[in-house]
Amino acid sequence: MENIKLQNYWEVVKLVPGYQHILKLAGFSEKVLDIMTRWDGQELEIIDKIEKEYRIERLKIQEQIREFKKEIKQEFGQEITEYRLDFLKNQKQELENHLKEGYQYNQEMKVKFFNPFQSFEWLRLVIMDLWQLPKYERMLKKIVFEIRLLENRDLVQKNQITPEMIVRAKDYPFENLIKVSQKNFALCPFHNEKTSSLYIKNNFYYCFGCNVSGDTIDFVMKTQNIDFIKAVQLLQ
Ligand SMILES: [Zn+2]
Repeated sequence: MENIKLQNYWEVVKLVPGYQHILKLAGFSEKVLDIMTRWDGQELEIIDKIEKEYRIERLKIQEQIREFKKEIKQEFGQEITEYRLDFLKNQKQELENHLKEGYQYNQEMKVKFFNPFQSFEWLRLVIMDLWQLPKYERMLKKIVFEIRLLENRDLVQKNQITPEMIVRAKDYPFENLIKVSQKNFALCPFHNEKTSSLYIKNNFYYCFGCNVSGDTIDFVMKTQNIDFIKAVQLLQ
């Protein structure tokens, strides 16, 4: 499809008098120009066909890869989990470092850019955007969740908790755990405060003050000092 579009552009370019000369001036080499002038619809149709075949082939290969993964899991189950855990823990560490650095940097900038006569707040926000902290927070949350699931896989297998229970626990309404105002704010239980700075949205929490964040499961784990399994069982 893309190629057909390209062909349409090309047909228009060809109508411009002296187009070859212009393209040469624009830096196109003789060789490229030669190929371009010889392009026609038929050739492009062939390219489209080849692309389509490649895509179908790729789908087949993906199916084979899935099968391959399944077989490996049956063969190496335990080892795979260990490797995965190793990988996830490394990633978790890297993400935590990045986030820590980011929040620290943010604090430093707040001081550096503070000027009573001219606000550089916009610049700070632009720079903070580059750190992509919310994105990394989300990634970290996912990784922490998977680590917990893998570390507790024996218990999960023994049916003490099931994946469905975990989903239910994550969906357990926050309003039942903590007093939430109409504007979705609550008093943060992780630091002392008089004005609510714990923001709750989509059943996740984030504290504007102490920067803690998470879901219902780790909220209960942290506030009641219990482990993952107990928290999931509690949130049913
Ligand atoms: Zn807090």
